[in-house]
Amino acid sequence: MAGTPMSEGTGSTESGPVLLDVRNLRKYFPIRGGLFSARIGNVRAVDGVSFRIHEGETVGLVGESGCGKTTVGRLLLRIIDATSGHVFYRPTPEASARIEQDLRELAPFSGPDGEGAPLPATAQQALEELDGIADEFSLYRKSRHEMRELRARLQVVFQDPFSSLSPRLLIRDVIGEPLEIQHVGTRQERIERVQQLLQEVGLSPEHAWRFPHEFSGGQRQRICIARALALRPEFIVLDEPTSALDVSVQAQVLGILQKLQQDYRLSYLFISHHLSVVRAVSDRVVVMYLGRVVEQALTDELFGRPLHPYTQALLSAIPIPDPKLHRERIILSGDVPSPAAPPSGCHFHTRCPAVMPICSKVDPPLLENRPGHWVACHLYSPPEVLGSFEGAALPEGSMEVSGASVPGTATASAAGPRLAP
Ligand code: SF4
Repeated sequence: MAGTPMSEGTGSTESGPVLLDVRNLRKYFPIRGGLFSARIGNVRAVDGVSFRIHEGETVGLVGESGCGKTTVGRLLLRIIDATSGHVFYRPTPEASARIEQDLRELAPFSGPDGEGAPLPATAQQALEELDGIADEFSLYRKSRHEMRELRARLQVVFQDPFSSLSPRLLIRDVIGEPLEIQHVGTRQERIERVQQLLQEVGLSPEHAWRFPHEFSGGQRQRICIARALALRPEFIVLDEPTSALDVSVQAQVLGILQKLQQDYRLSYLFISHHLSVVRAVSDRVVVMYLGRVVEQALTDELFGRPLHPYTQALLSAIPIPDPKLHRERIILSGDVPSPAAPPSGCHFHTRCPAVMPICSKVDPPLLENRPGHWVACHLYSPPEVLGSFEGAALPEGSMEVSGASVPGTATASAAGPRLAP
């Protein structure tokens, strides 16, 4: 969690082993209709998401309800399968470098323009190499047996501790169930492990002999955390883990998560729409809008210098705990569009205060604007992207667009654009 020195991205800014390397992840849910329930469309819940999670790191995943955050969490644990893309588990540095190079090779053929076109030899070779790497490292290529072992290392804590716990089971059985399923230890050893886990989350060993209804909301969430810890995981998806709790209880639960992370070098994906909490706990933040990543950066960088108009609007809504200070709130017009029919080009163009003519026509690529700070917005697109659209060029150094003024600069990385991590 925050406080741990952490770098991110690719290349020069990266350090520490990569635990999960998420690449071009897509999840489309079919829409069925008609007499024979034929597939008549797709809900694009997750639409080409890429990011990395390093060992011991907390990545915050933020965005409005329905942006695909929870679906990403489920895809990372393979609770559901992806439509396309991969989650590479512990890829070697060499494999990560090859993945990046191969994807760069394939990028011109992955859009609608390249679909169906025959691949040149180099791209075909990249595709085959990527396939080989996926066989070795992708969660989606693991057998049922391999996934069973991996599930012990990849865990989840859900938002609602009330529905996560069976009311008929003693806490001993709730926490001990994963140990029993994985045939860990004898019955007595399992009971001792449950009691130890209860102590680690700030409860008493005697609580093992009670039922879930005998606990408060905060205590139940601690029990859920103890259950997630039972098999000594290395990664936990925390899906709005404190949203249902009072503020004081939230702080206690976050403190426990922080301590456990330090003790066991856990990695977290912290999914939340509470930006203040995300800021407090995350090393790095990924912002999603309508199934896509629109910005990601180290926490201080993102909160101190947000680039994407959507991120700026989200951050402007955070209350300032000082009555003398005032921040101009950016009110976004309209509702979030349906992921079944997302707007063309930049999905955010229907609500963006800085929209330009190019925005509804061309997808802004996710590019590195500063070391480790990635943004998908034409305000920061390099000339080679903007040049493909006539009349899109902005006056040099100007950010005045459609009457709106957006802080920041519109320069891409001096080293040229880099593909999404
Ligand atoms: Fe706004 Fe255009 Fe940037 Fe999208 S690409 S966020 S519409 S300025």
